[in-house]
Amino acid sequence: MSEVVLVTGGSRGIGAATSRLAAARGYRVCVNYRADEATAAAVVAEIRSAGGTAVAVRADVSRSAEVERLFRAVDDELGPLTALVNNAGTLEKQCRLDELDEDRLARIWSANITGPFLCAGAAVRRMSTRHGGTGGAIVNVSSTAARLGAPNEYVDYAASKGALDSMTRGLALEVAREGIRVNCVRPGLIHTGIHALGGEPGRVDRVAPNLPMARGGQPEEVAEAILWLLSPASSYATGTFLDISGGR
Ligand code: NAP
Repeated sequence: MSEVVLVTGGSRGIGAATSRLAAARGYRVCVNYRADEATAAAVVAEIRSAGGTAVAVRADVSRSAEVERLFRAVDDELGPLTALVNNAGTLEKQCRLDELDEDRLARIWSANITGPFLCAGAAVRRMSTRHGGTGGAIVNVSSTAARLGAPNEYVDYAASKGALDSMTRGLALEVAREGIRVNCVRPGLIHTGIHALGGEPGRVDRVAPNLPMARGGQPEEVAEAILWLLSPASSYATGTFLDISGGR
């Protein structure tokens, strides 16, 4: 049986590119999404029409009951999980830190920190040799914002990705002898819809001239790095980080 990957937030942007590439490489793919059913269904239809296997499962990864239901759906519909891409993430309108309130902070922490923690825990309970599994790989999708700080835009988002970087190291070391590798990609400015959530859909084009490579990245360029970190080609890499950011 082929490898089984769960891509959280697999319906749009980097997650959709990762879902498509994983299917092309022979993975059976669970395309998770939170709200936009039609977009997730379109990714699944595209994979199936190319001869691949995929299912779409709605679940908010920040809610533990929904995460449990999501992983049970993978068990039932695709078979034993061998890979997790913790890709789902969000941001909100650009502002300064002194304008942030408690409710927004709670939303950002729950989507960008609690979600990947809950999903990683569910994946480890299935893949770890300590739990009777046969091993696997986890890739966390962080951001260059974790080291740049995103001043005047979203320091909360940047800090949430800093937490994901810490989790990558800690979890990688916890499960290094249990057959699971845990790594992280940190994309730079990538052409996806996430920038509209910050109130600036054209953000990549505005900043691109100032980037070392003078352009933003494409979701497919991030997906290639994710698939390499999932694959046996990276068998001696764990607890490490790949910045896919055009030199930024
Ligand atoms: P995107 O185009 O906005 O897509 C986000 C995806 O995540 C959608 O499939 C969305 O589903 C899903 N999602 C959001 N919150 C969720 C939740 N709580 N539970 C389940 N699914 C959820 O984003 P993107 O730009 O591809 O970003 C993907 C990841 O890369 C994020 O972690 C982001 O922080 C990171 N990243 C992006 C960039 C960039 O420049 N684009 C740079 C660095 C890092 P629905 O559509 O159904 O809501």
